[in-house]
Amino acid sequence: METIITNEHLVRLTEVARKFDSLLEDIEAVSNIQEWCEKRRIKENNPFRTGKCLKNRETGKYKILLAKEITPEMQSSVICAMECRSYCEEINALKNPSVFLTHLLLHEIAHARNENWSEQECDSWAFKELEKISV
Ligand SMILES: [Zn+2]
Repeated sequence: METIITNEHLVRLTEVARKFDSLLEDIEAVSNIQEWCEKRRIKENNPFRTGKCLKNRETGKYKILLAKEITPEMQSSVICAMECRSYCEEINALKNPSVFLTHLLLHEIAHARNENWSEQECDSWAFKELEKISV
């Protein structure tokens, strides 16, 4: 796997997200999600975070943060966490950068759709949505 440069995919990701316009207000690629959060006094414990979904209390809409550069190590840790939660064929597809990012975005959108969903529920929903899109 190679490092994913998120900005190279942002136009397409924005198109994918358009379907969920009523929920989302912004998608932003930031160099370090933890630092971004610290500056705004938002709690974030994971220094290697690849994506995050934040609610704007004023508008009720969500902002999705994606890491600007996603290293092979970050990709592996996301994929491995999923393997432990058991998916098989779908996980192989995530080794493609474009598919990885789309799944990551959809996973964060899933959090916006239902704040009570578990990581696993968000992943399942994201895989289902992914099937509907040609990446
Ligand atoms: Zn999540």
